[in-house]
Amino acid sequence: MNYRKVLIIDDDVSICELLRDVTESSGYETRITTAESDFKIVFNNFKPDILIMDLNLGKTDGIGLLKYLSYLKATCKIILISGYEERVLSIANQLGVSHGLDMYAFLQKPVSIATLKNILETLQLSAETFKTDDVIIAIDKDEMLLHFQPKISIKNNQIIGIESLVRWDRKDKSLIMPDDFIPFVEANNLTKMVTMAIIEIAFKAILEIQKQSSGIEISINLSGKDLDDLELPDKIQDLACKYNINPEKICFEVTETAIMEQAEVIMEVLTRLRLKGFQLSIDDFGTGYSSLVKLRKMPITELKIDKSFILNLTTNKDDRIITKTLIDLGHNLGLKVTAEGVESKEILEQLTDYNCDIAQGYYFSKPLAMNDVKQWMSTFKN
Ligand code: C2E
Ligand code: CA
Ligand code: CA
Repeated sequence: MNYRKVLIIDDDVSICELLRDVTESSGYETRITTAESDFKIVFNNFKPDILIMDLNLGKTDGIGLLKYLSYLKATCKIILISGYEERVLSIANQLGVSHGLDMYAFLQKPVSIATLKNILETLQLSAETFKTDDVIIAIDKDEMLLHFQPKISIKNNQIIGIESLVRWDRKDKSLIMPDDFIPFVEANNLTKMVTMAIIEIAFKAILEIQKQSSGIEISINLSGKDLDDLELPDKIQDLACKYNINPEKICFEVTETAIMEQAEVIMEVLTRLRLKGFQLSIDDFGTGYSSLVKLRKMPITELKIDKSFILNLTTNKDDRIITKTLIDLGHNLGLKVTAEGVESKEILEQLTDYNCDIAQGYYFSKPLAMNDVKQWMSTFKN
């Protein structure tokens, strides 16, 4: 994907013009519009790669526009801006995600020019840095590697598992983080290939780690784009047999948004994985719109509460209420509950109060390379 064209919609023309100065100086061809009626014509003719939109459009609000974009199955990156408080922006952003839109960022007004410039430059960089072939070659050359982040049982302070998180080591350049290349992989039909390569690396890794600490589990992230493949469970099982892996020690994480589409195929893939003995976790839980009825029918074993609720747990009352509710919900459904984004002792104590089962986050450790995580695990104090 190449990011070249930006469309800005804001009912305040002076803001449109100010933002246009920024986007044009970052090298983007830019159009502006101040009314929803013009927007539809401009959007469909101009076909922007990036849409910067105000949530408050005078007579109308931006939610209607998001629904319209969802109806069009728009693939552009969307940057929301608004004078409302962050919470409202965040909710609107989630609404966009649940409508299948590519919500890239949200910014409070007055928009920080530096932040916007930064976002635009990152997008250009991610567009320029690779081609489809690069990804295929990267797998061949073992440039895809995994870092590992420990998961700790809150009740007894034992390491129970690790989550594998992919990085792309482009030798001459720096390590590329998943958020900067997984969207490219997904948009270019490379997901299944990358996922199978990652699973194989993860299987080898867990065997090595279990030599040092037996019983440790590994969590592996799947993309929503993996789940339409009815053969996936068999492919994974074959690989597990090849490496003599116990499926009970493997947990596949799938995001709430991917799972809740609940196409029959997705349900079948998940059910078959579970029947083969693998564990299943709903990742980023709380950010989608799960219905309880659907959740109860899912063959899952774990809920993983999204870090956006955990990071400010000690200072934000709403986040505390939500987190406690999500933990109780998980327990009532007979699931283990993990909190990610545990950055401090205070957050951990709050989660202990709430009876959360497992914690993961910088307070314990950042994701680490294989040798470093083995070292970390050997010195972790019980
Ligand atoms: P995720 O699965 O929700 O992973 C958690 C992310 O939060 C990781 O970022 C991790 O480094 C970060 N994190 C962990 N603890 C803390 C904390 O205490 N504070 C803060 N602020 N952040 C924390 P990372 O490694 O950049 O991964 C980002 C996302 O990329 C992952 O989110 C996942 O959606 C995706 N991803 C990672 N590895 C894979 C993979 O192998 N396959 C696929 N399909 N997606 C992957
Ligand atoms: Ca995850
Ligand atoms: Ca997550």
